Amino acid sequence: MAKPLVAVLSGAGISTDSGIPDYRGPNGLWRRDPEAEKLVTYAYYMADPEIRRRSWQLRRKNRALSAEPNAAHRAVAELERSGVPVRVLTQNVDGLHQRAGMPARKVLELHGNAREFVCTKCHARGSMEDALARVEAGEEDPPCLECGGILKSATVMFGQSLDPVVLGEALSISKACTVFIAVGSTLQVQPAAGLAGVAADHGARLTIVNAEPTPYDDLAEEVVREPIGTALPGLLSALAGRYGD
Ligand SMILES: [Zn+2]
Repeated sequence: MAKPLVAVLSGAGISTDSGIPDYRGPNGLWRRDPEAEKLVTYAYYMADPEIRRRSWQLRRKNRALSAEPNAAHRAVAELERSGVPVRVLTQNVDGLHQRAGMPARKVLELHGNAREFVCTKCHARGSMEDALARVEAGEEDPPCLECGGILKSATVMFGQSLDPVVLGEALSISKACTVFIAVGSTLQVQPAAGLAGVAADHGARLTIVNAEPTPYDDLAEEVVREPIGTALPGLLSALAGRYGD
């Protein structure tokens, strides 16, 4: 039996069981708190050193949370290990799919990642741990060691475009996959949300696992409202049983 290519699009809802709140979604913390939203809005961040100082303090605190992958992240990695081709397209920046065992090359991080910093001027990158060590040592807004430019986390802020290479790969996967599972995403943040529509237009079987209705529910062959932590492992082990080695 030919193996299907399974694309899993994950949003904030897959990581809430790991204790990570939904920051970015339409009802996320950032949208409800304009002051917090400034911290992750590129124009404010670049213009205001005080915003940057507060952002670095927030990154310091977030590191302390050190979230662990949950049953849903592990289920995706187990499907991949069963021999079924899997690609993850994630709106999350927490790296929990990889920590659960998904090979990094099979995870596309649409909104970047929080494990690295990037220079806004020369695009140098490094580990967030290194930048935070400088903050701990007293630099409130550590500049780039290469060029003196402003550093930020390697996440996509409001007002920034998605990486066109990452987005292009995500589109190709959405067109090529036979099964597309959107999990924990309200499918309201573009362009990531549109990938579900692209997949359905190209003949993929669309499954949506989300507590709330999404704009793509009518296109889906299956809509699951049960909690992700139990629903996703069930769905994916059925796929592994059918198509795995
Ligand atoms: Zn630089």
